[in-house]
Amino acid sequence: MSITHGKNLKEELVELDKKHFIHPTSNMKQLQEDGPTFIFTEGDGIYLKDVEGRKLIDSLSSLWNVNIGHGRKELAEVAKKQMEKLAFTSTFNNWSHEPVIRLAAEIAKWTPGDLNATFFTSGGSEANDTAFKTVRHYWKIKGLPEKKKIISRKLSYHGVAMGATSATGIEQFHTFTTSIAPDFHYVDSSVESLKELIAKEGADTIAAYISEPVQGSGGVNLPPQGYFQAVREICDENNILFIADEVICGFGRLGTNFGIERFGVIPDIITMAKGITSGYAPLGGMILSERLHNDIIEKTEGNFWHGYTYSGHPTAAAVALKNLEIIKNENLMDNVNIVGKQMLEGFEWIKEQNDNVDNVRGMGLLGAISLEKASKSVEPIGPKIVAKALEKGLICRSVIYDGQDTLAFAPPLIITKNQMDDMITIINESIKAVK
Ligand code: PMP
Repeated sequence: MSITHGKNLKEELVELDKKHFIHPTSNMKQLQEDGPTFIFTEGDGIYLKDVEGRKLIDSLSSLWNVNIGHGRKELAEVAKKQMEKLAFTSTFNNWSHEPVIRLAAEIAKWTPGDLNATFFTSGGSEANDTAFKTVRHYWKIKGLPEKKKIISRKLSYHGVAMGATSATGIEQFHTFTTSIAPDFHYVDSSVESLKELIAKEGADTIAAYISEPVQGSGGVNLPPQGYFQAVREICDENNILFIADEVICGFGRLGTNFGIERFGVIPDIITMAKGITSGYAPLGGMILSERLHNDIIEKTEGNFWHGYTYSGHPTAAAVALKNLEIIKNENLMDNVNIVGKQMLEGFEWIKEQNDNVDNVRGMGLLGAISLEKASKSVEPIGPKIVAKALEKGLICRSVIYDGQDTLAFAPPLIITKNQMDDMITIINESIKAVK
């Protein structure tokens, strides 16, 4: 370990971190007391290494995004080449460049139905804000400017930009910002509730419905049987656009190109981020159906008044193209289906042995273990299990919302069967250790 200014590197970094770095979505007081738990230095495959030399399994692909695993030199090479050639130029107005054109065309090959045109952003929150503004614009140019409400599901996570926060169905994010944007409404996951809300608000005031195919940050919640097919029909009957937030589920996590395909429906709009670059560069976007795209081209007078400096960043686009090539060439979605099945079987095996496990669930390489219901009398045990797992060499995430005490998992899509065995063994031992 290197010594700087007479202190060891970790101590120096912890001190600087506390004083100067504001962590996203974090407990600030706790960070001031304890400092960061990890200061990572390297990644390789499913493993991360930290400044103390610990090697840890990254069972959440960092933030549900490092899908092809850490340390892939191919992406670094592509980024270097693109930066040397053309690191950045704008795509505002009539400017364009080859990587973004090729990426948009490639995405059209991945999407279901006629979702063929992409608007790029730097991440998922911007992608969702873009979709909310676009659906409102769409209805306005169709002569229905009153259609502007957005319906989302309780426990959904859609990001933290103002629109994305307002669509997010996790209360804590609303409390933080005092008030949210108007015209956002939430439903639970029953078809009846959706019908009731539409009847109450009036279909002529509703622009779009948004949902993750499988909710991620809210605790890896699978939809009820037949839910999305019913939603698709309700949206069609009421002239409401269906947005699938594929920020976590897109690009193979559920074993299909896009997660919503697992449920047999085609949305009008897809929003995406994370897996498009496996986190090697910040990138997201909104994918429109050809029908919407053509209508917007035809009926928009003047500008499409929405664009980010990094809408179509050349380096991020080049990285994304390579990342998508790797997912296809290495048949990673086949791996997701094989190792994903093994993960679920492993979770079932864990449940059989531990009475404090309430239920297990998953789809593809997205899974969860729910512990005994957290309530006022039952203290959540998830955080203690996470701490135990860490001692044993595994990073995993505890999610506690709405009385649910859950451990969430989304390992890199390259995880092998042996590595999955290791992951299951550590989780099992960690749960046993806090009984
Ligand atoms: N939608 C979903 C489903 C997400 O999981 C996330 C991020 N966790 C977002 C949107 C927001 O994406 P970003 O953090 O890139 O803005």
